[in-house]
Amino acid sequence: MSMNERHPVFRFAPSPNGLLHLGHAYSALLNQKMAREKTGRVLLRIEDIDRTRCRPELEEFIYRDLVWLGFRWDGTVRRQSEHLADYASALQRLTDQGLIYPAFLTRSEVKQRVSAWEASGRIWPRDPDGAPHYPEDDRERSEAERRQLLALGKRHALRLDMAKAVRKLSGGLNWRETGESDTGIVEADPLEWGDVILSRSDAPSSYHLSVVVDDAAQGVTHVVRGLDLFKATAVHRLLQHLLDLPEPIYHHHRLILGPDGRKLSKSEQSTGLESLREAGQSPADIRRLLGLA
Ligand code: GLU
Repeated sequence: MSMNERHPVFRFAPSPNGLLHLGHAYSALLNQKMAREKTGRVLLRIEDIDRTRCRPELEEFIYRDLVWLGFRWDGTVRRQSEHLADYASALQRLTDQGLIYPAFLTRSEVKQRVSAWEASGRIWPRDPDGAPHYPEDDRERSEAERRQLLALGKRHALRLDMAKAVRKLSGGLNWRETGESDTGIVEADPLEWGDVILSRSDAPSSYHLSVVVDDAAQGVTHVVRGLDLFKATAVHRLLQHLLDLPEPIYHHHRLILGPDGRKLSKSEQSTGLESLREAGQSPADIRRLLGLA
């Protein structure tokens, strides 16, 4: 029996950038159900690294809605904003491996570059979320030029040189998936993400970097989350490899869709847990609605 099977640790990791909706409820309750089935623990993590989008006051509403729902977490809550030193040291390890470069182009400069290219009928590569890959300019800058721009105080993000990072792999990269769509060993293709951001001038770590650092720090063995993060797992597996972190088992669950058939958004009122509660729905109703009764 492996370590993962003996001490299963699950986690629910919402971001306080809106109120919880049915999609969150499904994820939280599924984590709890799977943890109970394996007599494991389920942790709660507040993913508040992006200060531009997260609102600290929403955290209280997250606890309130989760308690109402009947989601009980083990141990203390881990708040990402309290662990910036952990992300900085992971970033330093990647920098020491020569895999990080400062990226100076602004979002609108990237946009202009992409539109000009596409206006001439060519296709610019995009990541699985539809965002254009970062242009090559900065990756190809000389060290002297880079130092000069940094000395001038030019704002920049830090990006992973994806092609170089992938070259560090000795064999292929994959993960163990137990989700509903793709069960078994899944081949990871991090190259389709291009040079992902690992830190920005206004957010000291990215989602990708903090999630792998946290999952390892919290001893998470089972990552149960929405299918919208299925493809991002390729980046997470790569970072785990580069940072020597253990590999969790992944389970990507179906997304709860709104009445219009689209993914739920945090601004949508009708499927918010608070609105459902105010409309007289009970936690048992929610469970039934989600097929988790
Ligand atoms: N914080 C992410 C979200 O709210 C979830 C991240 C994860 O489960 O890996 O969508």
